[in-house]
Parts: sequence; C-alpha cells; structure tokens
Amino acid sequence: MTITGDEETPAKPGRRGFLKGVGIAAGGLAVGAGSGYAAADAAPEGTPASAMSVPVAGPWQPVHGHVDVTWSVDTSQKLVALTFDDGPMPNWTSMVHDVLDAEKVKATFFLVGERLVKNARLVHGRMDRHEAGNHTWQHADLSRLSHEKAVEQIHRAHAAIEQITGKEARRLRPPYGQLGGTTLSAAGSLGYDLTIWSIKMLEKTYEKNPPKLVDYIVNNTRPGTIVLAHDTGHPDRLVALKNLVPMIRGLRAKGYEFVTVSELVEAAGPPAAPTKPTPVEQAAGQPKP
Ligand SMILES: [Zn+2]
Repeated sequence: MTITGDEETPAKPGRRGFLKGVGIAAGGLAVGAGSGYAAADAAPEGTPASAMSVPVAGPWQPVHGHVDVTWSVDTSQKLVALTFDDGPMPNWTSMVHDVLDAEKVKATFFLVGERLVKNARLVHGRMDRHEAGNHTWQHADLSRLSHEKAVEQIHRAHAAIEQITGKEARRLRPPYGQLGGTTLSAAGSLGYDLTIWSIKMLEKTYEKNPPKLVDYIVNNTRPGTIVLAHDTGHPDRLVALKNLVPMIRGLRAKGYEFVTVSELVEAAGPPAAPTKPTPVEQAAGQPKP
C-alpha cells in the first residue's frame, strides 16, 4: 500500500483486481525463451492488470498524446494553490466556503461525484471563483480498476460536476494519490491531467498544537506550492479547517497570492533561483569512485 495521507486506507485488492498469471502483453508479441526481453512485453507474475499504461492491444493514445502530472509548479511568483478533497459534505464544506469567501481566497475543490449529487445544495452559488476538479465518482482507487471501470469513475464525476457546478473539470486528483497505469490511461482517455500536491496538512501530527500546523504550512510553502486539505473525513482534520484563517493571513503576510491549480499551472515560468545545487549538479560535482 502506498502511504499518501489522502483519505482513508484504500480497500484491499479484490481477486479480480489482479492478473492471474501472465497474459497482458499489449503488443501480443511472443517472446522466445532466452531472448532476455520478456519483461518488456509481459508484466511479471502478480502485477495487477491495472498497472499497464496502455489499456488495449490496438492503436491507442491519450486524447492529447500525454498526461501531465503536477505536484507543484515551477515559478518565481509567490503563488500558492489551496486544494480541498473528498467533499462536498454537510458542515465541513460550508465551513471552508465561509472562510474562503470572507478572506476572498480562490481554491480548487476535488469533488467526489456521488457526494456532489447528494449534497449539490452545498455548492450552489459558491463555486464561482473556485476551480472544480475531479476526484472520481466514488473515491475509487483507480490503480486497481480495469481501464473501463476507471474511465467510468472519472466520466460519471465529470458529468455530475458539469451539471451541478456548470464547470468543466480538466484536472483529476486520483484518490490516495495512486498513479497506477490505469489512472494515467483513464485520465488520458478523457483528456485529463493529474494534480497531486507538494504539501499536505499534517492534522494527526498537530491536532493538539494548531499554531504549529499553521507554522508548518506557512514556513514550508514555496512559490508554486499545491496544498492538500480535506473538506470531510476524520474529525482530526478539523484542526486544519479551523485554522485556515491564520494560514491564509500568514501566507499573505509573506506576499503570497491564492490561485486555482489551473491558474498556477498557467503561471509556470522560470523557477525561483535555486538555493542549492540540483541533484544532477550535485551528482556531477562528486568525485568518481
Ligand atoms: Zn480523497
């Protein structure tokens, strides 16, 4: 299991989530014994079928030929994107909207389709300046689904988001941050790019010490940071939502402006001057063994 901190623990994989034996070679090429290239064609035994990044044997490509995965954005501008996952849910989502409205802050909500349909009233008239992102229909771990089922999860949520918010979602945040092949192929099939995060609220760590959580977020935000928060879930998450105001004001005091994820991506440019050598430069400068 990948530890992501995103929402609850993913469901244990069901039998159908796994390939029995080998046989998902997309190209269908038979590889002779001793060729040394078996791994290029057939996944090792036990690999989930959903790990394949090309879902069919025939010609296939994502709508745009590529799927971008964004953890944060290279920019020298002091821009930050707040993101809220898993809603909308009663009480929680309204509390977040009240703060964002009062502080005049833009954010991105990665909505769960089924919850959105059930709680549509919570977002009516409240999404105007925010971005609506897709967090699947049922908070599904796409990396364990077939390509078709993963596409359905994204597509149903997409339709619900468009119908209820009037916005066309273009960014998917895969539940649990799972980037398995099916996640990429299904997103690509629908022309989606993926948005992960570069810092998340550490609610469990700082549940009893809210000022430290505020400091953690304010001090670790860089130009281009994407912040992960949740507008539903375990009650310990309330420590983040109840302290949004000092976080927002603390970041503003440091010159930060709040933008949606799409605005942040559009603002990509030369990164802030590096404060230390890049890993490649570091490696180049090291004496050869
Ligand atoms: Zn989630």
